[in-house]
Amino acid sequence: MTMTEELTFWTHEQKCQKAVEALGSNGFTARYCPTPQEAADYIIAEAGDAVTVGFGGSMSIAGLEIEALLRSQGKEILNHSNPAFSLDEKLDIMRRQLTCDLFLSGCNALTLSGELVNIDGVGNRVAAMIFGPRKVIIVAGRNKLVDGSVQDAIMRVKNWATPPNAKRLNYNTPCSRTGFCSNCNSPERICRATTVIDRKPRLTDLHVLVVNADLGF
Ligand code: SF4
Repeated sequence: MTMTEELTFWTHEQKCQKAVEALGSNGFTARYCPTPQEAADYIIAEAGDAVTVGFGGSMSIAGLEIEALLRSQGKEILNHSNPAFSLDEKLDIMRRQLTCDLFLSGCNALTLSGELVNIDGVGNRVAAMIFGPRKVIIVAGRNKLVDGSVQDAIMRVKNWATPPNAKRLNYNTPCSRTGFCSNCNSPERICRATTVIDRKPRLTDLHVLVVNADLGF
């Protein structure tokens, strides 16, 4: 690492640690991971006796490259992201994610006060984060941290997460063309369900990994 990289890493580390501390105060099981590999190792260890593992369509989770390993361990992978699936097949997998043993997701924004902010088009991902799966692990890269309010976090999602996601998924929205949110009313608008998880949901074993690396959008 160059000195610039070291100091940048250290600065991010302070913010990640602050978020982890706040998440702990809010009742979550929270862990600081200096590298994506440590997040991957944590998930593999926590997957333990899980038979079914749901993937919420997250680029952060995809970046950890753990799906093949979990599959090789004999776990049933519930991932609806395969473009070859029909709508019915996708819906079936999304519904099964709601009751899987372990659900894995990224997070669109995480405040330094320990609030998880997400925006969905369908709602399956945010629903599974809150209740249903036996265990939920949410991975937030340092690029998801917001030193501000929930409203600031929502703006982070609309400015930085949704436009590239809309473009990635080929949605016909203004943001997928311009890179800016215009609070559209497009039929393909993907901002339809905004959730703020500000304390651990009472009956959900919810873990949050804050990683000192840029993951997803
Ligand atoms: S409201 Fe519309 S334009 Fe704004 S981020 Fe969502 S989909 Fe894009």
